[in-house]
Amino acid sequence: MSKAESIRAAARKHCEQVILPEVTAWEATTRYPRKAAVTAAADGLLGLYCPTEFGGQGLTFPEAIPVFEEFGRGAGLYAFSLSMHNIVAYAVSGFGQPSFRNAWMLRLTSGAALGGFVLTEPQSGSDAAGLRTCAEIGADGSYTINGSKAWVSLAGVADIYLVVVKTNPEPGHKDIAMVAVPRETVGVRFGEPYDKLVSPFLPIADMFLENVTVPADHVILPPGQGLSGSLMAIDIARTSIAAGCCGLMSAALDTALIYARDRKMFGKSEIDFQGIQWMLSDVATDLEASRLFYGRAAELLGGREGAVAAAHAKRFAPDAAVRATGTCMQMLGAYGLLAPYVLERMYRIAPVMKVVDGTTEIQRVVIARALQKYASTLPPTENSQTRP
Ligand SMILES: Cc1cc2nc3c(=O)[nH]c(=O)nc-3n(C[C@H](O)[C@H](O)[C@H](O)COP(=O)(O)OP(=O)(O)OC[C@H]3O[C@@H](n4cnc5c(N)ncnc54)[C@H](O)[C@@H]3O)c2cc1C
Repeated sequence: MSKAESIRAAARKHCEQVILPEVTAWEATTRYPRKAAVTAAADGLLGLYCPTEFGGQGLTFPEAIPVFEEFGRGAGLYAFSLSMHNIVAYAVSGFGQPSFRNAWMLRLTSGAALGGFVLTEPQSGSDAAGLRTCAEIGADGSYTINGSKAWVSLAGVADIYLVVVKTNPEPGHKDIAMVAVPRETVGVRFGEPYDKLVSPFLPIADMFLENVTVPADHVILPPGQGLSGSLMAIDIARTSIAAGCCGLMSAALDTALIYARDRKMFGKSEIDFQGIQWMLSDVATDLEASRLFYGRAAELLGGREGAVAAAHAKRFAPDAAVRATGTCMQMLGAYGLLAPYVLERMYRIAPVMKVVDGTTEIQRVVIARALQKYASTLPPTENSQTRP
């Protein structure tokens, strides 16, 4: 078994033995299942992209990202939180300064510390470059940060946050940097966790930074590299979310298949009706297509076509998951509403995947920009009516 195969098998085991038996209890609380994350670390699932010298697995994106399909079968937002943590660990191992890496890397890969990524602000979500949180750089290279962030996942739970900041009050994004802020730094405060309708176990809240000073070695990406680095991180996240959606779809499909196989009506099994078979086939096609999308995006991440490939995956898979969970729920009739089948929870999680880490509409914006660029390379038309 290759290392990638054994890590995927470990992720499957984590889903079957840790997530699935516990997820209903998690859903009933506002406490993050930190113990589960530590178990994931012990199975090598918290340093997927990090070099082995830092306790990581040193996997490529195509080798590692299927892990999130396995997690997605159990709990979409738990999968999201561990995807975010893995990206934070990757950023620290790849771009952190030696003293900072030495202080944090083994903690991040062992699960002793969890990481969060902090970009969104109350006034800037999709328009990420519209952020206002600003850092003043001291003569010694230290950063003193002031501002408010919103939608911070693992708020108050993560031990370190990669915070995206401006370093100059003028508009524009050429001054944007990324700085690591440990949770216990003086001046860091979190609001009450949002009262959201799905997965209360993942705390999401505002983060307030008031004269928060961190030393120079906490700078992960200097001014000028913060926005492009964040977008690269988001491309990995988008691909991982598409993988998580495949887990969600495959879990919903399995439930619907078992039910339709066993449910008798009009003298035969539900699965023998052609109308039902077409519903199942559509879900299976959406699932296969989503797998191809995220697999291709994982291959291209980091290259020239990575962002567009990730956008295709993130545009398609969450919409497919919304369709799939709705279709599978319908196939169970009234029983689709019952808690033990879990379809109703899957049905509520799927639309969240359309928003987090860039909405479906923003993926269309990314794809359309690439199409516009391509259109400009096409030869002039022969049709005089479309000439200027
Ligand atoms: C569960 C969850 C966890 C999250 N965790 C984090 C986190 O840990 N860290 C973090 O930084 N952020 C996090 N976010 C924030 C998330 O990334 C933002 O919600 C997302 O980027 C969208 O921003 P917004 O919600 O402000 O929507 P807005 O930007 O206000 O968009 C509102 C609507 O307008 C549409 N729209 C926007 N621009 C365009 C356009 N150009 N063309 C057409 N339509 C457009 C959008 O698609 C959307 O439908 C999280 C969000 C969720 C739901």
